[in-house]
Parts: sequence; structure tokens; C-alpha cells
Amino acid sequence: MNIDTANFCAYLQAEVVGDKIEERFEIHRVSVDSRSLLNDRTTLFFALVGQNHDGHTYIEELIRSGITYFVVSDQTKIIQQAGVTYFVVQDTLQALQQAATWHRQKFDIPVVGITGSRGKTVVKEWLNFLLSNEYSIIKSPKSYNSQTGVPLSVFGMAEQHTIGLFEVGISTVSEMKNLQPIVQPTLGIITSLTNEHQDGFTSEEQKMQEKMQLFTHTPTLIGEKDDRIVAVLSPQTTYISWSLIDTETDLYGQLEGDKLCLLYNKVETFTVELPFTDEFSVRNCMTCILTMLVMDYAIETIQERINKLYAVELRLQVKTGINNCSIIDDAYSSDFQSLSIALDFLEKHRSNANKTVVLSDVFHSGLEPHELYQQVNHLLKSYQIGKVICIGEEISQYGTDSAVMRFFSSTDEFLQKVAMDEFTDETILIKGARGFRFDKIVSLLEEKTHETVLEINLTAIRHNLNFYRSKLKPETKTMVMVKAFGYGHGSVEIAQLLEHEKVSYLGVAFADEGIALRKAGIKTNIMVMNPEISAFSAMLAYDLEPEIYSIRELKAFLQVVREKNAYQYPIHIKVETGMHRHGFLTHELDELLAILKHTNSVEVKSIFSHLSSSDMEVYQDFTLGQMELFEKNSTYIKEQLQIQPIRHILNTSGIYKYAAYQMDMVRLGIGLYGIGNDKEEMKQLRNVGTLKTRIMQVKEIEAAESVGYGRRFRAARPTKVATVPIGYADGIHRVWGSNGGYVLVQNKKAPITGSICMDMLMVDVTAIECKEGDEVIIFGEDLPTTVIADAIHTIPYEIITSVSQRVKRIFFEE
Ligand SMILES: *Cc1c(COP(=O)(O)O)cnc(C)c1O
Repeated sequence: MNIDTANFCAYLQAEVVGDKIEERFEIHRVSVDSRSLLNDRTTLFFALVGQNHDGHTYIEELIRSGITYFVVSDQTKIIQQAGVTYFVVQDTLQALQQAATWHRQKFDIPVVGITGSRGKTVVKEWLNFLLSNEYSIIKSPKSYNSQTGVPLSVFGMAEQHTIGLFEVGISTVSEMKNLQPIVQPTLGIITSLTNEHQDGFTSEEQKMQEKMQLFTHTPTLIGEKDDRIVAVLSPQTTYISWSLIDTETDLYGQLEGDKLCLLYNKVETFTVELPFTDEFSVRNCMTCILTMLVMDYAIETIQERINKLYAVELRLQVKTGINNCSIIDDAYSSDFQSLSIALDFLEKHRSNANKTVVLSDVFHSGLEPHELYQQVNHLLKSYQIGKVICIGEEISQYGTDSAVMRFFSSTDEFLQKVAMDEFTDETILIKGARGFRFDKIVSLLEEKTHETVLEINLTAIRHNLNFYRSKLKPETKTMVMVKAFGYGHGSVEIAQLLEHEKVSYLGVAFADEGIALRKAGIKTNIMVMNPEISAFSAMLAYDLEPEIYSIRELKAFLQVVREKNAYQYPIHIKVETGMHRHGFLTHELDELLAILKHTNSVEVKSIFSHLSSSDMEVYQDFTLGQMELFEKNSTYIKEQLQIQPIRHILNTSGIYKYAAYQMDMVRLGIGLYGIGNDKEEMKQLRNVGTLKTRIMQVKEIEAAESVGYGRRFRAARPTKVATVPIGYADGIHRVWGSNGGYVLVQNKKAPITGSICMDMLMVDVTAIECKEGDEVIIFGEDLPTTVIADAIHTIPYEIITSVSQRVKRIFFEE
């Protein structure tokens, strides 16, 4: 983009501050992410200010990475430097939106704006596929549909594009009016409306009115026949609707098997074969078919293309691979923007690994191939990819022949020539358009285990972290507990995420856990809570900081520190305030201080204590008493040693209920994993782990027949029983089976019948239509661990940390 400075400033009401102000300047991209590896001289950076984040903090770092154009709101954070220009505005998010609006106005092409509660991304991705032969498409990458995602998507519009497909999501009132001018849809689509995401609105009607603001100046809107929509339509808009029940509509559809029989304009009839027949897919297909009809596509074309639609995978999945590899599976699409997102994901999660990318031909979107592949090459270089395997005729022709690239004309050729054993100790991003069938490569590289998986939603973890951070002052540090294998979820992956989110400390129970994190390349400070004396020298070698809880332990630690000639090695003093587990009692402090006063070998990095009952209302006085004692004793240590250590006492429930006592740092545990001890707290968290497997076998038994060991279940009537390959050795508590235990099949409750076995359990599915291979949820969003824990008189902590290591963990982002 070539920008006229005066014009740009007038539009944004910005004041220019800086050393050198040119009349025009050239930028190639807009960024709000200080960590992006693509930030460079041609980037315009908007310093956004959020609840837990302030882009202004990174200005110095960003100048070093080459950025010279900033949009800022806080003048005091400006760093004067030769060649750096600042645009000072009132509000940087608003400026980002205005700048996107300004950019949008330069293009006179059709733009489709898509909103609704469900199906936005699927409809957008499907339309992208359905229209790609005729149009050069610019679309929002993945589900970039928020207050920042929409403007960033629109900045992608360039000269070569002939249509835009943008999705727009809102979570509360008055957001849509900001987004409407940025998208300016010339054609509107409203997808399924459900009662989801209702929290930010007072009523269904309010939500509807808000959503419809996207279409105030849109001549044509497409959606399901619905009086609620018509009621709030702007007078300039014509509503063209489809229905699966009402023939009095523009497009009526009736499903017969996998055929959809259609009646268009009440006169024209035709059928299309659907690749999917579940309810939401059918609805999304109706939307796409009607859109193509409105865009004057011939019926034959529609029939031919709808049949080729594919499942849209909205998430990038990390899978465990053979030979100690990790696989990032993105074998569904291949365009420049989604490649850049996938590389970002690779960098975030595996910045220390040997990185490999398997890449297919990239979707053009109107660019000349040599130009496109030049950009692709630049992108791969920025991310320091060690090895690139290019598959496809075109990428082989245009890809730059650099040392790190190997070329194959097809997936089959690659599979013939390359043995999968060639891959060891690397993280492999598999990124290709669907037609290349990279799923074949994924399935060969993936480690085979049984079908039981614990899926971990990294986006939800980030959400939960931010929720607790929002309760804290910006300067308060966070330690996150990743002990016990990240509460059973997988410590390395979670630690990588937390490192990226810049938490101050990670907390583990034993030295071994800390060593595993260091070996995986984690650099964040790590505190070890139960350091064993035998592990001290390893802890020094791996830069792990011990909790010191007794004189005996301190003396033993000092001896090791002196042997290694270490100086001011960081330690953390635990004071006992009522938990009675670990730590120094009041009368032991003087002896502790006498030792610490006379040594330089260690440095008291922090002083802390642990609350025993922060989640229990009845013990509020006791908890306040703990804090009071902590305040007193930690102050005493500070004064005696004349130091300024970090002080911390709050755990998850403490943060939620006693934020006033946050001091310098908090220690977040269970809440990160989506489990709160309070109902209101729980509502604001997102589910992180889903333990799932598949039905192995379904059989019918007669009345009076029994199921399982000890014949503990007798059928009262003919019963359909499904066998599920997960048992107590996987961490399913055996008592759950005899305390009303159930699993979910087709999202319905299937009661556990008979005793849970070591590797299997059986469930009653008489009332559920299901078959072998169907998914079974053991716990997750719709069957929370809190429900299971209550039934078997334990706590969710025990349920999640019990999931056995033989269960494969899969991590994904939304
Ligand atoms: C486990 C632990 C925490 C975290 O507790 P949650 O209840 O999971 O938030 C904090 N501090 C210490 C010392 C711990 O052992």
C-alpha cells in the first residue's frame, strides 16, 4: 500500500510525531502482534491497549526488528529515533478500524459479509471453494472475525482481487457499528442463529438487531426464512430466503437420503447430491446454493461443485509423530494467509524445534505465480524453516531452488521416494490444499495408538489465563502451576504456550518435571516445590529454583551451591501460615535469617505461603488470618535482610475471591485448566480438556442377561450395549460406574453398565441411535469433571490428573 501521509492523518485525526516525515510512504502489511516474525520496515504497527496487554511496551523491541511506522495513543511511550514515525491518535483500536475503512473504500468489488451464530467459517470456506474458478478471492483467514480480526482481514484487499469474503462476529452491543463500514458488504449472508453467545446481550431481539447492523447499506441479504430477520431489516435491503419446511420461499429444500430436492422461485426444480447430511451441513449447503443462484451460477455448475464440498477443519492439530517428531496437521487448505497463520502457530509452539514444512501448490488469489512463490519463499525464510518439501507441479516449477527445498510433482511421488523414517526429532507442518491428500502423509507419520485421546484446547487455556489476569493489576506477576504433567494435560505444550504469553514463573513439584521442561527448550523461570536433596546438583545444572521450607534443606542446598561455586542462586522461602504442610514457622525465622544474613551463595528471590481453604466461604476468617500472618512474617524477613523479594500467596480461588491480596505475584493452577471452585467463576472459564474415544462394538442382549465382571448389571429389558475401549487403567475411576456414571454418545447420556474393566467399559445405548466407530465423550464441555467428581466424592483435580500417560494428548487451537 502506498499511503499519502496527509490524507491518512486527516482520516485518522492523527498527529505525526517523529524525525522524518515523508509525503508518501509504502507499507506491505499491518500488524498488531509484537511477536510476529514478519514485522519489518514495511509494517505499520498499531499499539493496541487491552486489559492485559499494552502494545506500547514493545516499541523499543519493535524498532530493533525494523519497524519504523507506529500508530500509538500514549505519547509518553514514544522513543525518538532517526527514521521512526509515530501517528498519535486517541484510541489505537478505533484508528485500526478507521484505517481499514479507509482501505476498503479504495475497492469497488463485490464484498460478501457473513454473520450469524454458527457456520460463518464453514460457509466462508465453502464459498471460497465454490467461487474460486471465476474469482480472485480475498477472505478472512481462519476465523478472524473480531474487532481486530475484521480490520486485519480487510487490509488484505489488493488490486488483483475480484471478490471479498469476510466473516464478522460480535459478542456484545455496539460492536457491529464499528465493523459495518470496514466490511461494507454488497451482499449479506446470515447463517444459523442459535442461542449461543447470548451473554453480551439482554435479549434475543437485541442480538438480532445488533447483527443486522452489518447490512444497513446492503442491497441483498441471504438467509433462512425467519420473521425475526424480516422484522428488523433495513428498508433498502431485499431479503432472499431459503427454508427446509416452508415452500413459500425463494429456495425450498427437502432432504431425501443424501439428495437435496430444491424448488427455486417456486418454479424451477433440481436436485443436488450432498456430501454431508447432518443438520448443520445441510443448512450451510442451502446458504451456499442460494448464494450461487443469486450470483447467477448455472444449476449444472452448482450441482457439480456442491457435491465436492469437504469438511472444513477449523483448527490446527498437533499430533505425536513417529521418531520423536511432532506433526501439525493442516492438510485442508493452502493459501498465503493461512500459511502465514500456520507458520506462526509452528513458531509459537515449537520455536526451539527443528522445523520442517511439507507444502503443496498454493492457491493464487489473482497473483502471478512467480510473484506468489517469491512471497511464499520470503515467508518460509522469515520463519527459519530448516527443510521444505514442496509437492505439486506448480510449486516445483516456481519454487526457488534453495538448499532447504526438495521438490516432488505429486503426493504419490513423494510417498514412493521418501521413507518416513527419514524424519526424526523434528516438528513437521503439513500444509496442503485438500486435493493433494496430505492426510495420507499425516497418517503415515502419526504414531499409532488406540483411539482414546485427551484433546486440549490451547485457545481455551489462553482465554482462562487472560480471565485471571484481568482480575489483577497489570504489574502483578503470574506463576502458573504446571506440576503433575500440567495437571494431567501435558506440561511441555502448555509451558510453551505460557512462555509465549510471558508468564513470570512456572511451578513444578519435582526437579524431574523441571528438567523435562528445560530439555524441551523452556527458558522461563521455574520454581520446584518439593526439591529432593539428591536432585540439587541437577537443579543447578538446569537452572531450576528451589522452594526452601526447612533449615535442614537449606543447609544441604547451600553445600551444593558452594561446591559448584554458584553465587546468589535464586531461592524461594516458604513460610507456614496454616496449611501445615511445608514451610518455616514463626519461631524458626530467626534461625533462617541468621544463615541467610551470612551467605552470598543464595538470594531470596521470593517469599510465599499457601492458602488451605481459599475456596471455602466458611473459612474466610481463617484465610484472612493466613494472609495477615504472611504479611507480618514476610515483612519481617524483608526488613531483616533488607531485600525486596517477590511476595505471593494466592492460588486460583484466592485470585478469584481475594484479589486485594495479590501482592507481587499469584500462583494460578486449576483455573488455567478451565475448572473453578465457584459456579460464577466457572461460567467465565472455557473447557480445556476433552477425553474421548470410539465405540468398539455394539450388541443386543436379552432381558435378564448380565454384563461384565461379577454380573453386576442385569438387563431389565432387551438392551443395546456398546463396548468402549477405556477403563480404570486409563484413569476412569471404577466407582464412577456404580455411582450413576455415564458417558456421552451423540451428545446423549449412555449409562455405564456393570463394572468398569481395566481397559474397557460397557454402556447402555438402547435409547441412542449409534454404531461402531461413533465418538464417545468421557468428559468435556458437556460432561464436566466437576459432575463426575461430585458423584464420586472427590475433586476435579483428581479426575484430570488421573488420565493415564498411555492416553494420547492432542493439542489444538481454534
Ligand atoms: C498447586 C499449587 C497451587 C495452585 O493451586 P490451584 O488451587 O490449582 O490454583 C498454588 N500454590 C502451591 C504451593 C501449589 O502447590
